[in-house]
Amino acid sequence: MGYESILMEREREREREAQCIVGDLPAVWAYSSITKGWFKPESNPNYKLYQRGKFELLHVYDLLTFDNPDGGAWKQGFEIRYQENEWDETPLELFLVPHSHNDPGWLKTFNSYYQDQTKHILNNMLIKLSEDHRRKMIWAEISYFSKWWNDIDEQKREMVKRLVGAGQLELVTGGWVMPDEANSHYFALLDQLMEGHQWLQKHLGVRPSSGWAVDPFGHSPSMTYLLKGAGLNNMVIQRVHYAVKKHFARQQTLEFLWRQSWDSSPRSDITCHMMPFYSYDVPHTCGPNPPITEQNVREALLLLDQYRQKSRLFRSPVLLVPLGDDFRFTESSEWDAQFRNYQKLFDYFEQHPELHIKARFGTLSDYFEALHRRLNATGTTLPTLRGDFFTYADRDDHYWSGFFTSRPFYKRLDRALESTLRYGHEILFSLTLADMRRFRGDGRLVADFPGHEHFRRLTEARRNLALFQHHDAVTGTARDPVVVDYGTRLFHSILNLRQVLQSSAHWLLLLDKSQYHHDQSKPFLQMDDVMSAQDALPQKTPLVLSDAPRSLIIFNPTEQLRTSVISVVIDSPDARVIEAETGRPMTAQISAVWAEPSRASADSFQVRTDQELIYFMSSFSLCLILPCVFSSSPSSLNFLLCHSPQGPEADAPLSLSNKHVQIWSSQETGLLQSGLVRQVQVQFLWYGTRSGVNRDKSGAYLFLPGEEGAQLYSSSEPPLIRVSRGPVFSDITSCFRHFTHTLRLLHLDGHAGRSLEISNMVDIRSEVNRELAMRLVSNVANGNRFYSDLNGFQMQQRRTLEKLPLQANFYPMTSASFLQDSSSRLSLLSAQSQAVASLRPGELVLDRRLQQDDNRGLGQGVTDNKLTASLYHLLLEDRRGGAQEVGGASVEHLSLLAHLTSLSLCHPPITMVAPSDSQLPKLRPFRPLRSSLPCDVHLLNLRTLEDAQEVALLLHRKGFDCSSAPEPMPQCTWSVNLDDLFSPLQFRSVRRSGLTLLREHDEPESARQQQPRITRLRPMEISAYRVEID
Ligand SMILES: [Zn+2]
Repeated sequence: MGYESILMEREREREREAQCIVGDLPAVWAYSSITKGWFKPESNPNYKLYQRGKFELLHVYDLLTFDNPDGGAWKQGFEIRYQENEWDETPLELFLVPHSHNDPGWLKTFNSYYQDQTKHILNNMLIKLSEDHRRKMIWAEISYFSKWWNDIDEQKREMVKRLVGAGQLELVTGGWVMPDEANSHYFALLDQLMEGHQWLQKHLGVRPSSGWAVDPFGHSPSMTYLLKGAGLNNMVIQRVHYAVKKHFARQQTLEFLWRQSWDSSPRSDITCHMMPFYSYDVPHTCGPNPPITEQNVREALLLLDQYRQKSRLFRSPVLLVPLGDDFRFTESSEWDAQFRNYQKLFDYFEQHPELHIKARFGTLSDYFEALHRRLNATGTTLPTLRGDFFTYADRDDHYWSGFFTSRPFYKRLDRALESTLRYGHEILFSLTLADMRRFRGDGRLVADFPGHEHFRRLTEARRNLALFQHHDAVTGTARDPVVVDYGTRLFHSILNLRQVLQSSAHWLLLLDKSQYHHDQSKPFLQMDDVMSAQDALPQKTPLVLSDAPRSLIIFNPTEQLRTSVISVVIDSPDARVIEAETGRPMTAQISAVWAEPSRASADSFQVRTDQELIYFMSSFSLCLILPCVFSSSPSSLNFLLCHSPQGPEADAPLSLSNKHVQIWSSQETGLLQSGLVRQVQVQFLWYGTRSGVNRDKSGAYLFLPGEEGAQLYSSSEPPLIRVSRGPVFSDITSCFRHFTHTLRLLHLDGHAGRSLEISNMVDIRSEVNRELAMRLVSNVANGNRFYSDLNGFQMQQRRTLEKLPLQANFYPMTSASFLQDSSSRLSLLSAQSQAVASLRPGELVLDRRLQQDDNRGLGQGVTDNKLTASLYHLLLEDRRGGAQEVGGASVEHLSLLAHLTSLSLCHPPITMVAPSDSQLPKLRPFRPLRSSLPCDVHLLNLRTLEDAQEVALLLHRKGFDCSSAPEPMPQCTWSVNLDDLFSPLQFRSVRRSGLTLLREHDEPESARQQQPRITRLRPMEISAYRVEID
């Protein structure tokens, strides 16, 4: 399929989509607390759509006034009335669901919680559930469950299996953790789900059917997409803005079908139950009125009243009542108290049929089965909802937008491990195993290849990445020692994965495989940088040059042909680079390594080489290639150092340009003033926090900026500015006291030359209660609309609303955001997640240093700041033919160019160094892909599965925006046959499966013969295959 026909297909998709989405109207009506009703509803088409049972969160935001009135006993709600006889015909059917919320790290580390609490909870669970078959329990975190499983004997394991088989114990969601849904990337979200599901399949032979997410700080439809793809049909969520909850409760829409914004079919629908009250803890779960906590017969009628009130918030008489809290059910006595008292209550209800209630302990599946039975029996349909639940507020103006940025150092380290895991282990390791088996011909591995050892490292890294997706880990909301524990796990995993990468690459590059010899103490290949500690940035190791050439190994971990700039630190400024295969010289640029802002290091220089020709002409995607660096005749360094306007560029703004882009920077600050055709400026800002005693201030979770708002960053002395120009790149670096900011243009012909690279090195350790933000001011007329991504999977429209406080207008940005008008789109792609807002100009929060706790249980501020790097690409694109959309449609995608730019940014090329060439065996490039994958298809993973010789192949076909054609056209194909994707390796069998590769989801034998074609993949969808590689 050519690009034009792909575009036509997308246009048809959009037209179908447009029929389901209405344009936005100003909020002309609202709920009246006097008349207890909505006024002027008929004039708003959104309301009609709402009445038809389809609505979007964006429209709900239009409707709400966010006035936070006191609701009486149920503070954030309203008074609920009911008639005594309402349940006479159909009795209330109540499921009390015991649960214990176990954070894999928060105030204590994962291991400490396990030793002090979790193992006792699970041990007691085994005894107490076995005592009475009517007792039930749900469990969510497989990280804890699997650790406990390793500790118990065979007899206890059999007891667990019996309880699971009898439906007394249900494993819900089945993820390694209950992940954060704001900062986590969809690769890691899916990987932790797969790790949990694979564990459950292997040890208990079960697959989860219901999701349970009661503590993540806001909810994303990307997570629901993954759950649905993994075979779940129901889910429970809890932390949603209190005003939204109240609205849903009033409309009886707390149960809905959650649909993907981009999906015009019900394919992605999942039944979602939103808890109505403030928290999932014991005081807030029995009913709307918190003081009722006693569970005994005398108060049965009081409790019944609460249950009946709660039931009025839902469309069916089936009621879910959770019973539990953080680390509850530790003591044996607590189990007895809860289970015995509630059983007495249930028995009392049973003996009094005139109360019309049937109550019992239940699991989530028990509840949802009863719900669906009841809905089907009465022909009741649930409304359909699109959108997400950010930004969460639990009370007043306490918006949880601080955690989008808290501990940015670790948010970036998370993505470094993610990228390392994807390429270093999963993909290259899987290909190495397959290639070795093919080489030997007997299905076995080469004798001294440490396959098992590597698989152990792989599993550990997967689990550490999974653990870090927990809603107190990647969020930056754990105590300092717990953060160090997470950081150490991420750091060790990266080091371990590097070993796997080195030995896999060693095998794949050897021309004569019989020369393969593994020596752990003397790895054949070395990485070109060193990570010295969990809280330190990687440092490049200088390459010692002599007359003999030094071979480099460059690995492009993406499935697309790419042109990129590689940098290597060398010990002398005199060097040149040649292409190993042809001996052709490569364009190179030498620049200084800066020890301090104005002092170049005397013994190391940085050489940057333009890989363009190699990648463009001779290399394929996902490959390892081999350039060499030589010592050569002296060359000159080309840079300009200035403190204040002096020298040749004193009077004019500093300017950078390449074939596609020209920018101008202030000669005083070096910051971007204009460029990229439209006006774009960079500014830096400070936010403080609220002043006054006894006032809530910003902390790890909350962003509560001071009344003065953002203050423009200013410094008493002008920054030092460095300008470099050369054949490979040109850049401007401004060194301020709290950050070093670099703007860089690459002189490349391909799409890598189209964007402006922005990087920051931030250090706010000297500050008190301050947050540093970067602002992009542009003249793109986007009104109050912008778009930010959800988990790197999809884009969500955002609106800056004046009726909301400043902190409510910040949203999570995992990897991308853009704003647009009819002629241009400005996209910002990022390599880390953080908070973003479009308060007319766009803003990104870079780091936060906050001295106090924000009263959400953590008990400390955020003061462990580090020197932190952040990296972006800014892309300006024309929109074709003055596209109609000016912020109307709520479904938008990144452009193809933005997708490719983001892919390159998140998966930088990896450089390894071979020993000096005299001892070098003959190497050859390794190019596993016969051609690049289609432009819109992403090889998400090639994951070695534990059993047999199977591999999970995960492909994601991205949705992209058609209104800007990529210029220049990327070098990728539009159709490919999976059969010979990894030639000469062949797929012996390909079988479609669910997203977590559970055997039950494998397509039947009969469908197996149909080889999957990529053209059969739907836009936006992730497809999973179980494959055997020969
Ligand atoms: Zn939690």
